[in-house]
Amino acid sequence: MKSNNDILIVGGGIAGMETARQLKALGLSPVIVEKSSSLGGHVANWNCLFPDMTPTRKLLAQYEEELKDVLVYTDTEIVSINRLQKGYSIVLSNGTVHPCKSVVFATGFKLFEAEKKEEYGYGIYDHVITNADLEAWFETGSDERVPEKPAAIGFVHCVGSRDIKAGNTQCSKVCCITAIKQAIEMKEKFPNAEIYCFYMDLRLFGKKYEDFYINAQRDFGIHFIRGRVSEVSETIDGRVMVKAEDTLAGKPVKVRLDLLVLMAGIVCNKENHALASAVQMPVDDDGFFRSRDNIAAITESDKDGIFFAGTCTGPKTIPETLAEARSAALNVYNYLKKSK
Ligand SMILES: Cc1cc2nc3c(=O)[nH]c(=O)nc-3n(C[C@H](O)[C@H](O)[C@H](O)COP(=O)(O)OP(=O)(O)OC[C@H]3O[C@@H](n4cnc5c(N)ncnc54)[C@H](O)[C@@H]3O)c2cc1C
Ligand code: SF4
Repeated sequence: MKSNNDILIVGGGIAGMETARQLKALGLSPVIVEKSSSLGGHVANWNCLFPDMTPTRKLLAQYEEELKDVLVYTDTEIVSINRLQKGYSIVLSNGTVHPCKSVVFATGFKLFEAEKKEEYGYGIYDHVITNADLEAWFETGSDERVPEKPAAIGFVHCVGSRDIKAGNTQCSKVCCITAIKQAIEMKEKFPNAEIYCFYMDLRLFGKKYEDFYINAQRDFGIHFIRGRVSEVSETIDGRVMVKAEDTLAGKPVKVRLDLLVLMAGIVCNKENHALASAVQMPVDDDGFFRSRDNIAAITESDKDGIFFAGTCTGPKTIPETLAEARSAALNVYNYLKKSK
């Protein structure tokens, strides 16, 4: 097949990068449009990755190397998409007009804004942070909300997920295992700290995830408390008080902490709605892009030549995202072959 930049990938996170890598391997020349100043998406903000504690830098460096000759527009967004007789004409915010036969949306997710759950005190109490803040702290070691020697640390699961009031009834899939990963990392840094995970139920479906959980209890002594947090407040000495119902022990618990980490969930990227409406494509009830079929065709839209990769259709881990990106690349390849 001829390679003439007739595929546009919108979004340069891990999904967009893997789609580009695969298309390149198939002899095609995709173009990536990324609205931020660099590739990597959310993954670039995580310090190391479950389940093998892979350093993120190592993973991204491989992509950087392999995508060296792929045309990437950073700091660029889609201004408009117009249907042509064959394909689409896409106007980019950098002034270029890009005719293309196929488009892959790899525009990802947003992290739930933890301040919306006011009762947990994010942005109000001094020592309440999110999972994303903690990843940044692992990377930089600098965040004045993280005390120098915390004696007790808590993790609250399901923040903004499985929560009708927060407008998101979905499970975010990645935050139980992220909480366990981060709890272990904190225990390694602060061996004398008591660490608590407050969860509704644990959703650990991936390869090695259950082992991670067993190790967290057996080797690191992390306490898992089943029950919703009912109250978070600040004590007079600036610590964080968490009250919860321990539904396994059948009694209320009250713990004083030096740091509380909120496991903010994965929610839809609402900016995708403008892209969807530009091509008259529906979005799902949960706000993510709607696949043509959630079993047989998750990476396909119901529009000619438009495909999806990664978390723009719902919460996913990196391996799942990569698998879908490969599938999207194959969809594009077959589509172009058919429409030649
Ligand atoms: C706290 C946390 C920790 C995690 N840790 C792990 C882990 O250790 N292991 C694991 O397997 N998974 C982990 N995950 C899941 C992982 O982050 C996702 O699977 C991955 O980020 C999905 O990649 P993506 O490319 O689909 O989306 P994103 O990472 O969201 O990337 C989307 C990209 O598209 C760009 N974009 C969006 N809209 C536009 C537009 N209109 N125009 C141009 N560009 C656009 C964005 O700027 C971004 O670069 C974690 C998730 C969370 C929340
Ligand atoms: S993965 Fe765990 S913490 Fe995240 S929403 Fe699902 S149950 Fe809650």
